Amino acid sequence: MDIQKIRNDFPILSREVYGKPLVYFDNGATTQKPRCVVDAIVDEYYSVNANVHRGVHFLSQKATELHEASRERVREFINARSTNEIVFTRGTTESINLLAYSFGEAMMKPGDEVIISTMEHHSNIVPWQLLAERKGISIKIIPINDQGELLLDDYEKLFTAKTKLVSVVHVSNVLGTVNPINKIIAVAHQHGVPCLVDAAQSIPHMKVDVQEMDADFLVFSAHKVYGPTGVGVLYGKESWLDKLPPYQGGGEMIQHVSFEKTTFNELPFKFEAGTPDYIGTTGLAKALDYISNIGMDQIAAYEQDLTEYGLQRLKEIPGMRIFGEAPERGSVISFLVGNIHHFDMGTLLDRLGIAVRTGHHCAQPLMQRLGIEGTVRASFGIYNTKEEIDVLVNGIQRVSKMF
Ligand code: PMP
Repeated sequence: MDIQKIRNDFPILSREVYGKPLVYFDNGATTQKPRCVVDAIVDEYYSVNANVHRGVHFLSQKATELHEASRERVREFINARSTNEIVFTRGTTESINLLAYSFGEAMMKPGDEVIISTMEHHSNIVPWQLLAERKGISIKIIPINDQGELLLDDYEKLFTAKTKLVSVVHVSNVLGTVNPINKIIAVAHQHGVPCLVDAAQSIPHMKVDVQEMDADFLVFSAHKVYGPTGVGVLYGKESWLDKLPPYQGGGEMIQHVSFEKTTFNELPFKFEAGTPDYIGTTGLAKALDYISNIGMDQIAAYEQDLTEYGLQRLKEIPGMRIFGEAPERGSVISFLVGNIHHFDMGTLLDRLGIAVRTGHHCAQPLMQRLGIEGTVRASFGIYNTKEEIDVLVNGIQRVSKMF
């Protein structure tokens, strides 16, 4: 991988913050955008823009072609069987809410159970809690060990005749743990239960193949994979999506409307009420092209090396505590140093031009399990370097000396 060439594709990386070169280590929250993604968005607004679907005029047809080509691009990227299985949403959060609503309506009754894990993001907890209030279902939690790995024996024991869905994160946004997703899904299937995978933190970093995993549902956000904000994906096996009712009503998702009876559109449009973010989907497709051209295996190997270096360098710092020591881990490192508050560390690193995230990372139940309030989190992307990790390590050492 030619990192300098990649860095040149991201104009923001050459800016300074407080007179210091920007070191952007907040990729877990959102990634920066390469020029080709922003250009594709600008080009479409300037030369193609028109509302998609049903337009007889030239521009509407062109915009529709681009939008549907983006759906095909996503299908190919995650190796879904058909574009009928690719639903565009606003992001991971909306995808999970959609599923919690539609699956909950059609498939769950009071007393039924959904299994999630201790390391879920709030977006894979709260929608199920809302469903629990609405429908009287209950939520069961897969525990973790101190290394930050799911306890698979305990997971198996959670299944009962009432278990209707498993919903787990592929890669933890706090611990970096890469969960053994194929095994988790296989166990769910042995119990006749479908599985939803939150792939928000895996899609940007590794090859994700929904057929190889045998995932029933999988969700992610464009903005974490070098694409624009406001767009995401819900993948669902057609056999499941066919059985589920619409999430929202409005234009686009209908076949015929009368005041007496409305019939719904076919897949995937049944789940896409209103004007879709057709410009955003173009940006997402461009971003997937961009990372595919670099190569997902190359990206995974590069980031793995970077993370190992980061872990090794950070551990040299006195008082360093790393949260998440699973052997299989992605490019997220959460830490605390001595008793320096994560917020103080983040604020002072910021003054040195280093962007990290601090706090509970939308995973408060995990923080409770770890017995802490929050961490500092450095998360790497395709444009980060070992030199930047050295800048972080020097920065942390400087801050430590102040306390
Ligand atoms: N799941 C995980 C694991 C995440 O890291 C995030 C974003 N931090 C989300 C879900 C939510 O994604 P979004 O805010 O894009 O909907």
